[in-house]
Amino acid sequence: MKRLNCPHCNNPTISWLRKQCLGPARRINCPGCASKISVAWKNSVPTFIAVTIAVVSIGYFGAEIRSLIGFAWATTLIILFFVLTMVIVGIYHHFFVPLEVRARPRSERVAELFGSESAVD
Ligand SMILES: [Zn+2]
Repeated sequence: MKRLNCPHCNNPTISWLRKQCLGPARRINCPGCASKISVAWKNSVPTFIAVTIAVVSIGYFGAEIRSLIGFAWATTLIILFFVLTMVIVGIYHHFFVPLEVRARPRSERVAELFGSESAVD
């Protein structure tokens, strides 16, 4: 599967699945340059809204369960709706939630501290 470029070192080090599982509260290390990578907060807001709607609607459909047929119907709707939401969220996350650098690698910050950017690779 195609790997995504690190926003810091521009090397394709982040796997697609890793980015999809990444929320703005989590950070991952770039295996290439060791900087901390996350996704932008503001772009993640629609993802939270969609997941909240999905969970609330599961409760709504669940309340419709009064008979065996109703149960089968509600279960089918819940599964369909949930899968659909996850697909939409996945597509949105893939195209509209960019990776961003949260913290540059320690070696780089140390190098800056001593006034020589190129001292440490
Ligand atoms: Zn990197």
